[in-house]
Amino acid sequence: MSILPIVTYNDPVLRTQAQAVPELNQEVEQFAQDMVQTMYHANGLGLAAPQVGRSLRIFVFDPDPVLEDDEPDMGVIICINPVIVSKSEEMVVMDEGCLSLPELNDKVKRSESIVLQYRDITFNEQELSLTGWPARIVLHEMDHLDGVLFIDHLSSFRRRMHKAQLSDIEAGLVETSYPLKPK
Ligand SMILES: [Zn+2]
Repeated sequence: MSILPIVTYNDPVLRTQAQAVPELNQEVEQFAQDMVQTMYHANGLGLAAPQVGRSLRIFVFDPDPVLEDDEPDMGVIICINPVIVSKSEEMVVMDEGCLSLPELNDKVKRSESIVLQYRDITFNEQELSLTGWPARIVLHEMDHLDGVLFIDHLSSFRRRMHKAQLSDIEAGLVETSYPLKPK
């Protein structure tokens, strides 16, 4: 397994609609496992394939670090060709960050609950009903597969407040505990 460098803000792959995975093969399996290792190494709650430079509809997530004590652990979930089949009308505002936007956080409004369908690492179809943090992480990662970043959900006023940090990320002037793809 290997730790993959993470691409950051302004890399075109983060703005590209990712392609469906046509079939499972050893290369895809290996890549998904590398994504899991990369996510854990970076202390991320989720990671989407475009964030490691691959325009494929795969993301991995593990919400356990942010779950309440009385919620059962979920462990790591690998989602291939995921689809959100329903979203609650109930919206919640929560603080988000992104491994591709180091040191940048802001509040984003999203549906509180979702139903997610995906293929797992054996390419079997799965369905999950998620609420709270797990739903939030999945909606964030789904956005990555459609070329959307969490800052796109902010008001232009809020985005302007992050302009200096975005310029620093763009210029490669940020330090992270995980490897970034060189500019
Ligand atoms: Zn992200």
